[in-house]
Amino acid sequence: MDRLPGIHHRFPVIEEMPRPDWAMIFQWIGDNLLADQFAEAHDEIVCQWLDELAAMLGSTHNAFQSEDLILLSFLDRREAIGLIRFAEKARGLIRSLLPYAFETRGAGSTVVLHFEDPDEYWRYAAYFHSDGGFGQSAGMCIGGEFTHIVLADAPGDQLQMCMGHELVHESLSHLGLPQWIEEGLAQLVEQKFFPYAHFRDVADLRRNFAVLTERNIQSFWNGEGFSSEQTLQEACYVFALSLVGRLVEEFVTIDDFVANASREDHGAATASDHLGTTLGELAAGILGNGSWEPRAFD
Ligand SMILES: [Zn+2]
Repeated sequence: MDRLPGIHHRFPVIEEMPRPDWAMIFQWIGDNLLADQFAEAHDEIVCQWLDELAAMLGSTHNAFQSEDLILLSFLDRREAIGLIRFAEKARGLIRSLLPYAFETRGAGSTVVLHFEDPDEYWRYAAYFHSDGGFGQSAGMCIGGEFTHIVLADAPGDQLQMCMGHELVHESLSHLGLPQWIEEGLAQLVEQKFFPYAHFRDVADLRRNFAVLTERNIQSFWNGEGFSSEQTLQEACYVFALSLVGRLVEEFVTIDDFVANASREDHGAATASDHLGTTLGELAAGILGNGSWEPRAFD
């Protein structure tokens, strides 16, 4: 497909990078193409855009494509294919854990931008986070009209871990889940490939769990704690991995939970309906006795 009239020049350059108007593009696709053409059109437009983006970056970046993933990277061909192969393995694991998420996702390949220059990584990403609220970051999944992954450069294992983590977010982004579920699953997938990635001894776990109190537990359930100051942020990630790990070990398939959990009540109703227990009780099994139940958003 090489003719998408009115589309290819719709990549306005904003803050020194071409930034497609995805709402307009998807509207055009919906108005002009049949459903079975969506995926091909999506990928064609992405490749046109990445050509323009690559031309504006300071070092050489190329687009590499597999069956369902498009990677823009400065890596040489062999390294880029190695990274794509890892991504495909991670997606295979995510698909087996979370088939519902895969069945319900939109058409088109997963898109990953891997920047060599940290300044370009930040400049690209900052456009989507005008509040600047993304702290230290080696990668992120950008949601909205066009969900895609952005990675900074990092040594091999770290890059793959980050890819695995962000692929979970990318796979789940259309479901509107509570953040604690996404962060728990993302770390669980990292751990499957890198078993020691999140290893902590008992004292370290206790220290992190002790940070969570009845006063701040709502910031875990509502997601604010994951972007708060470092101590609380770390405790939220540690607790998310423990809690989701327990869900996966002890209950129905996590897929059922993910298919039904709602951000509005932080997954509380789904826990009661599907697990026969409450999130507060599950939390108490890890944190000890306390009032841990989530409060729904007003
Ligand atoms: Zn995450």
